[in-house]
Amino acid sequence: MFDKNKYYGILGMARSGIAAAYKIKELGGRAYLSEKQWKDKIPSANQLEKDFPCEFGGHSDALLECDSLIISPGIPLDIPILVKARNKSIELISEIEFGFRIKHPDSRIIAVTGSNGKSTTVSLIHHILQNMGCKSLLAGNIGDAFSSFPIHQPGYDYIVLEISSFQLDLITSFKPDVAVLLNITPDHMNRYASFEHYAQSKANIFKYQDENDCAILFLDSQEIIRHTLNIKAHKFFFSLQECQPKAYACLENKFIRFGLSTSVSIYDLGIKGPNNYANAMAAMLAVHALIPDAARIAEAVKGFRSLPHRLEYVGTARGVSFYNDSKATNTDSVRSALLSFERPIRIILGGSDKGEDFSVLTEDLKKHAAKLYLTGDTQDQMRQAWLGKIPLDCIDDFEQCVRTAFEESLVGDIVVLSPACASFDRFQNFEHRGEVFKQIIRSIIKENEKK
Ligand code: ADP
Repeated sequence: MFDKNKYYGILGMARSGIAAAYKIKELGGRAYLSEKQWKDKIPSANQLEKDFPCEFGGHSDALLECDSLIISPGIPLDIPILVKARNKSIELISEIEFGFRIKHPDSRIIAVTGSNGKSTTVSLIHHILQNMGCKSLLAGNIGDAFSSFPIHQPGYDYIVLEISSFQLDLITSFKPDVAVLLNITPDHMNRYASFEHYAQSKANIFKYQDENDCAILFLDSQEIIRHTLNIKAHKFFFSLQECQPKAYACLENKFIRFGLSTSVSIYDLGIKGPNNYANAMAAMLAVHALIPDAARIAEAVKGFRSLPHRLEYVGTARGVSFYNDSKATNTDSVRSALLSFERPIRIILGGSDKGEDFSVLTEDLKKHAAKLYLTGDTQDQMRQAWLGKIPLDCIDDFEQCVRTAFEESLVGDIVVLSPACASFDRFQNFEHRGEVFKQIIRSIIKENEKK
């Protein structure tokens, strides 16, 4: 329910904050927008100033007049204005919490979080629901913000939300009908005080659920099991172990076994590697929690294709195939890439630092990588971690790095961009990095066609 009498402050003029502001206005409420950056850095600043009271270049005490502050995911929670707001007992919420409060009561929520695989899994869920003829909305971290859609009106049977831990740090009532926790591995260690804090914030997704709700959990993760011991929701498990009796979905030879008598061949899924099979199991279970029809779900999951920048096949030149995994911005997603191919790969690593310990990859790289091509800001750190253990080269220029990997490849080799790092050292974002990679590969393919 939306409370028109509340005065909302929006911290951060990015996608989700702007969406919340316009929704507040549409519903007859008032919002005050505040942004740390100067006006010239905000693309829609002029329009926002016409539509709302705004401030740029910092967060002033004017925000303390608000009843509720909606905080953008990128904003640290210990900045002075938020300390003051807390002292004045002003409510701090995320845009996901705001959207949940205003959504139509008939729309059921499926929320997905985890360190890796969120976008793939929400897309799988949306794909299954649409193939089953349901009216499904895909929102949150993927695509457009939750509150940018007409969610206060009837019309969406299911709303599938991709949720980051930052958004879960600021919920006070968010209660999904189905909550999925895919995995918890180190990520964003530059934002959280410890791994324990990070894991706790992921487990917040279950905090307001009750016995009528469902939790979809990865049985193979001790962290997940430990952090969900006392949740109230009904638990369903998936597992990558063969024929695991405690799991409703697990592997059985080259099939995903789903329930008692349903199975799907992994070759009918357009995604590669064990972690993607786990994502598919989680997605099937999430839908099954609301529509218990295993056979229809198994049929509906087929035909899904991998998303761009997630182990995306780009092409082949001179018998060398290329994959773009630019979204692999942490070590666990790189491990996932390494396990997805049947032979050792040539892997391009490096980018901007997120505070992770790269040495955790050493054993997997030894087994599954033919050679490392290190680039970007973290190349020296990575070199120190792996020099003398795995063949490697440091090549600062990104294009040169990709080209060297190709030039050293033999027929049948596989070159994968899977950086283990964010992209902000050289690129606008991971999509930009992936597009540049694909452009280089297209040139290589063209050049080799001519020969
Ligand atoms: P997210 O939205 O959580 O970042 P994506 O689906 O965009 O997840 O995938 C991000 C990266 O993680 C890609 O490199 C992908 O190949 C890898 N990945 C996907 N699913 C998993 C998983 N279940 N475990 C580990 N890595 C995964």
